[in-house]
Amino acid sequence: MDTSAALFERAKKVLPGGVNSPVRAYRAVGLTPRFIAKADGAYIWDADGNRYIDYVCSWGPMILGHNHPLIREAVEKAVKDGLSFGASTEREVEIAELMINMVPNIEMVRMVNSGTEAVMSALRLARGATGRDKIIKFEGCYHGHSDAMLVKAGSSAVAEGGRPSSAGVPIDTAKDTLTAQYNNLDSVASLFAQYPGEIACVIVEPVAANMGVVGPNPGFLEGLRALCDKEGALLIFDEVITGFRLAKGGAQEYFGIKTDIVTFGKIIGGGMPVGAYCGSRALMEHIAPCGSVYQAGTLSGNPVAMAAGLTQLSYLNSHPEVYTDISAKADRLADGMRQAAAESGANVRINQVGSLVAPFFTPDSVESFTDATKSDLNKYAAYFEKMLASGIYLAPAQFEAMFLSSAHTDADLENTITAVKQVFSAL
Ligand code: PMP
Repeated sequence: MDTSAALFERAKKVLPGGVNSPVRAYRAVGLTPRFIAKADGAYIWDADGNRYIDYVCSWGPMILGHNHPLIREAVEKAVKDGLSFGASTEREVEIAELMINMVPNIEMVRMVNSGTEAVMSALRLARGATGRDKIIKFEGCYHGHSDAMLVKAGSSAVAEGGRPSSAGVPIDTAKDTLTAQYNNLDSVASLFAQYPGEIACVIVEPVAANMGVVGPNPGFLEGLRALCDKEGALLIFDEVITGFRLAKGGAQEYFGIKTDIVTFGKIIGGGMPVGAYCGSRALMEHIAPCGSVYQAGTLSGNPVAMAAGLTQLSYLNSHPEVYTDISAKADRLADGMRQAAAESGANVRINQVGSLVAPFFTPDSVESFTDATKSDLNKYAAYFEKMLASGIYLAPAQFEAMFLSSAHTDADLENTITAVKQVFSAL
């Protein structure tokens, strides 16, 4: 038994399923999970010392690669001054100023500790500000594990029609979460027609990245904006994946759409546990202590996490070439994978938006969650296993993205494409 397998046996005795987050158990691919010992640049090493080219990148935040020296140094420096004060620090102001400078249409920022918390709080704000209870989300979009969002959720929370995607979510909570189809404006318009004056907000992943990667068709995000304006509802972009990744200003800049509230997560912590929700001053001042929407956090704005996030965001702000670099790398990878599919005759569709890529094992185009679920999951599992054996670390589940970082080299991409060619031919 290798070290990862032995650790997993130990872990299963003390952690449910042997993990602290379900996708890590590799159930979707039917394998024993790798335990990770360290990471640097584009690579991670498992507990047995095997090195992999990493396309998970901690599920997105490692835009500059793992263990970036500037971020590591900032964290080491911050640690020397103490780990947490439960009081305000200059860095919190600095990072908020920087985010407001980088992201269009936001005037204020509230820091929290995860993407889940950011979304949960953003929904409370939308409900508090509009005085309405119902919210619209899209089937297959994942917004963290708060009760209201565990309805037809993507990622590893497998969607189940009409019911919460999790036991323990009260039906009464789930009934206020209405679900529409991604890339289908009619499905949104008909919910507004069904519940006039009752819908507080529409929340969307501007690029759906928890059903594989599915980009918005032209007019979809514009249409959501117009519907929200017409109905007096707020538009929330959940940019936990796309924020500071598609562009400095995230999806709002990339697609030229204005939202009312935007949520961020892991990326703004540079790998530390952070989230934030942001919006106009008028909206954000509904939050306590200014207004009546309560939300708080002992570790919110934690000095060490802020040091990491501030350093990553400052670097991105002063090095806009990172964005052209990571999306050019994704272009190259996606083209190579498409060519591999064509040469091997494998029925694989490669979706890509910016630095996000995902293969689907289906001959048809994938523009919605229904399309995504047509992917052959057994083929994904076989592909994952063979790629892992070739030293390439991918998401251990179909409904996730591949993340590119500036640390991936041309040689990494070539090696990956070569492996993909062999694996597609063998499927
Ligand atoms: N929103 C989106 C779009 C996400 O992808 C995720 C997690 N990947 C979350 C929210 C939840 O973030 P967290 O896991 O940090 O709670």
